[in-house]
Amino acid sequence: MDMTRLRGTAVSPGIAMGEVLLPRRVVFTSRKELIVEAQVPDELKRLHQAIGRTRDDLVKVKDNIREKMGQENAFIFEAHLLILEDPSLVGGLEAIVRDDKARAEWALSKTNSRYEQLFESLADDYFRQRKSDVSDVLTRVYRNLETRREKEKTPQKEHILVAHELLPSEAALRLTRELTLGIALDMGGQTSHTAILARSLGIPAVVGLRDITRWVKDGDFIIVDGTDGEVIIDPPLAVRREFQAKKDKYENYGRELQKTAKLKSETLDRVRFVPQANIELPEEVSLALSMGAEGVGLFRSEFIYLRRESLPSEEDHFEIYSRIARGAHPHPVTIRTLDIGGEKSLPQLNIEKEPNPALGLRAVRFSLRNRDLFRIQLRAILRSSVGKNVRVLIPMVTEVDEIVDVKDIFEDVKEELRRKGEAFDERIPLGVMIEVPAAAALADLMLKEVDFVSIGTNDLIQYCLAVDRSNEFVSYLYKPFHPAVLRLIRSVIQAAQRAEKDVVVCGEMAADPLSAIVLLGFGLRTFSMNPIFIPRIKKALRSVECRTAEKIVEETLKLRSAQEIEEYVIEEILVRHPQVFLTGQPVEAKPK
Ligand code: PEP
Ligand code: MG
Repeated sequence: MDMTRLRGTAVSPGIAMGEVLLPRRVVFTSRKELIVEAQVPDELKRLHQAIGRTRDDLVKVKDNIREKMGQENAFIFEAHLLILEDPSLVGGLEAIVRDDKARAEWALSKTNSRYEQLFESLADDYFRQRKSDVSDVLTRVYRNLETRREKEKTPQKEHILVAHELLPSEAALRLTRELTLGIALDMGGQTSHTAILARSLGIPAVVGLRDITRWVKDGDFIIVDGTDGEVIIDPPLAVRREFQAKKDKYENYGRELQKTAKLKSETLDRVRFVPQANIELPEEVSLALSMGAEGVGLFRSEFIYLRRESLPSEEDHFEIYSRIARGAHPHPVTIRTLDIGGEKSLPQLNIEKEPNPALGLRAVRFSLRNRDLFRIQLRAILRSSVGKNVRVLIPMVTEVDEIVDVKDIFEDVKEELRRKGEAFDERIPLGVMIEVPAAAALADLMLKEVDFVSIGTNDLIQYCLAVDRSNEFVSYLYKPFHPAVLRLIRSVIQAAQRAEKDVVVCGEMAADPLSAIVLLGFGLRTFSMNPIFIPRIKKALRSVECRTAEKIVEETLKLRSAQEIEEYVIEEILVRHPQVFLTGQPVEAKPK
């Protein structure tokens, strides 16, 4: 076969080279095999036996995953058990067997297509991808209809897993760090569970390749480029060499950056800075620490809701917060209360559609409207603070009165816990996010009410420049170096310095080397970002002198446009600290 190159979505970085393994795929029948009336009871019994076997399998998988990867990953299978026990699903299957007088295989096939169509019509990408969860359950039942079940062989040698779609339960069971070198799938997207699992296991993966399963067979040699989103089938020697070199370079660079994790977080002139991690899942804590994070600067708690179908209980919240707090101890952990509403709507919260979601009932506005939910969350956060390393962060405040309201509720919840004799950190710090220009303008007054502020530049830029952060038509106007944005950020940092209170930047700007240097020059010392960017930010900040950064930013404030500012900063850094732009060895701080 000649070399073929397929493009897909890169969801887990790195390069893998090896032989294809194609797991046996269940294909739902398209043939309606009919039965006679007298056979219906037996066919229903057969269906129920398969459902029973599936339930046993799922309980086993769930326990296995909980042991291997923690409760948070096992939740997928709890959701699967709920799907399996859903009376409307089971009732629907029975009705097809009874009314159509057809085999259970046909009932499963028909039901699967119905759900596929339903999910495909949903606008929300996250929920569209949940289609695979229902499919996963139905596939298992389908397999369990076979009486003599053909046991799938577990792979014994290194391989690249190629499949049409990797259902969550298959992903959790099949993927092993030792044998699965890479993953290439016809289907899938960034937020699919398979993508999340591949990233946390460090397995390079490309998904959304459409028809790779038609191009390869077991044993074919392929390359998976999880960084650029490409798969190369049957590459000639020269291409293998080229990718081997790319793989070596990628792994060397990774190792080198990783070394930075152990080096001190200080600039060339020995000014200390603190890199922290933004996380969405508790299992990210250990990765964050290994990347050099000195704490969790932002835990986006809305992901607790995104990962389940019902409302989380206080115990669910508590378990997750405690796990993060213990995992990061003694470093601080900042838990942001629910930042939901507007376009991030969740079915279990029954949020109404709003004409202008970004300006609607979001974040703290939602929490103050739904105080019972808010109190549950605050109670759980307080209870998880016994190790004295937890901080609470309130998203998207626009006026001081909101903070006063939040503090009243917070005090009330504390009192409730005291009455019950529940332990918590009496001095737990409370902070607010500065994400709208109004909050930035009032930073001095807000700082009188709170212990710290965190600048959410992702939203601050969107609200300051009136540019939707997720609208590609106006993305050319989304400019972190816009002079108005820089002035706002600087004024907040200065207000915090005057108030002698902590200030953090937790938006994407903290993860960009050039922006981080500008923020350093403004006086920022705590940078919170996606853990994978910590090494490069540490490297960049270790390569500059803080006093140079201070001088550079003074000049930038006189410039008129984002472009002028960016060009100026690049030129100045290039002249004084070219190391920032190099991908070589991390530099050691020079003795004074
Ligand atoms: C921000 O707005 O910068 C931020 C960190 O919050 P999120 O990205 O979750 O809105
Ligand atoms: Mg935000």
